[in-house]
Amino acid sequence: MRDSATMSNFLEGRDAQIVTKGKDTRELAGGRPSIPGSVSQRACVFCGSRVVLYPIADALHLVHGPIGCAAYTWDIRGAMSSGPELHRNSFSTDLREKHIVFGGEKKLFQVLDSLIDKYKPEAAFVYSTCIVGVIGDDVESVCRQMEKRKGIPVIPVQSEGFQGTKKDGYKIACDAMASLVGTDDSKEVSPYSINILGDFNLAGELWILQEYYRRMGVQIVASITGDGRVRDIRNAHRASLNVVQCSGSMLHLAKWMKEKFGIPFIKVSYFGIEDMSDALYEVAKILDSRGPQTGDSRAGHGLFEAATEIVRSELTRLLPALEPYKRALQGNKAAIYVGGAFKAISLVKALRLIGVKTVIAGTQTGNTEDYRLLKEICDDGCILVDDSNPVELSEFVKQTGANLFIGGVKERPIAYKLGIGFCDHNHERKLALAGYEGMLNFAKEVYETVKSPVWDFIKR
Ligand code: SF4
Repeated sequence: MRDSATMSNFLEGRDAQIVTKGKDTRELAGGRPSIPGSVSQRACVFCGSRVVLYPIADALHLVHGPIGCAAYTWDIRGAMSSGPELHRNSFSTDLREKHIVFGGEKKLFQVLDSLIDKYKPEAAFVYSTCIVGVIGDDVESVCRQMEKRKGIPVIPVQSEGFQGTKKDGYKIACDAMASLVGTDDSKEVSPYSINILGDFNLAGELWILQEYYRRMGVQIVASITGDGRVRDIRNAHRASLNVVQCSGSMLHLAKWMKEKFGIPFIKVSYFGIEDMSDALYEVAKILDSRGPQTGDSRAGHGLFEAATEIVRSELTRLLPALEPYKRALQGNKAAIYVGGAFKAISLVKALRLIGVKTVIAGTQTGNTEDYRLLKEICDDGCILVDDSNPVELSEFVKQTGANLFIGGVKERPIAYKLGIGFCDHNHERKLALAGYEGMLNFAKEVYETVKSPVWDFIKR
């Protein structure tokens, strides 16, 4: 049990989801539903599904519900595309009172019919929102009819917001994608091929990773879902390996593909030097271990050597460039609150590399195993928290003296109200933070944030 003074403002029942390293010996419990009364930082099921699917750029994404549910548009979550940009539109059936009374199926049918004719997408995803679950529209049946009529996959995403947490939305999105995987064999696929799962190409991050893999000689069959294409996802079952970042959102799909198509998967992170390098080495080792493949003209091996060369050349450039930031940032303290635990782990390491100590580390969707790893790499005194809320986070910042908050759109106002710096590490960011190049961007951003003269004018 934590110090009762510390917990006195907090809701009863939260004890199991808050621990201080070096003080509490119990494990941090993850994967629980939010307790009643907590204005959780987690988003709804629909939001979870949409976050995962909407970067598929040549698909139509139609939100079946009131216009308010569709408000979280591309302008906020800017997953980039190298080609079509249909995903940037925020389509909604804009349900009104009469549809709630008499049903929204007719409107859904009409809207789908006209949007598919107008935009000619490769597939359509139809997201159910809360009210659709309440009035009981048969979205599946409308999608089936439309699929027959238009000859493209029209996939219902049963993501009514009230049925669970954002994490449930991830699983529903994975199920929706599973209906596409394995439905096409037209792509040429090398034996040295991977699918990238759980990168959303924010600020073009996927393109940085693609370049590393290209230099290694590894083909990316499908990027799921950053800069995603329907045809690639339909062919994804033929890749040799699934490389999963953001495991909270994509592990379900990776496990399903392993069971159904025998594709192994690994969990990686592309944030920070250590994890980025480990990702490249791990992919190389696994693909190398397959040995020379039929139809492959090379000796069949050499990916590990290629990965080593990339790491060597990138670090030669990067490490000296990071030095001045490390010197200037010594003594700063960071609070981290992000979606998934793998990202939090990478952030703790990346911050340590530039001289910043993590004093709060929390996530929306981590599980108990994730938190075991997170606790291991944190320093004594670090507060670890699952599924937090603004009251707790504010209190922790005051207790620990953190002067930098790293989080997403919902954490930004908490930081600013407390008069401390904030760095966006979520889907709203406009700065690429993945890979070696991303590490340097991250160091610069942390430096510019905590060293900004604006903090001198704020009474903490
Ligand atoms: S909780 Fe329901 S009503 Fe609110 S945004 Fe999510 S789906 Fe829409």
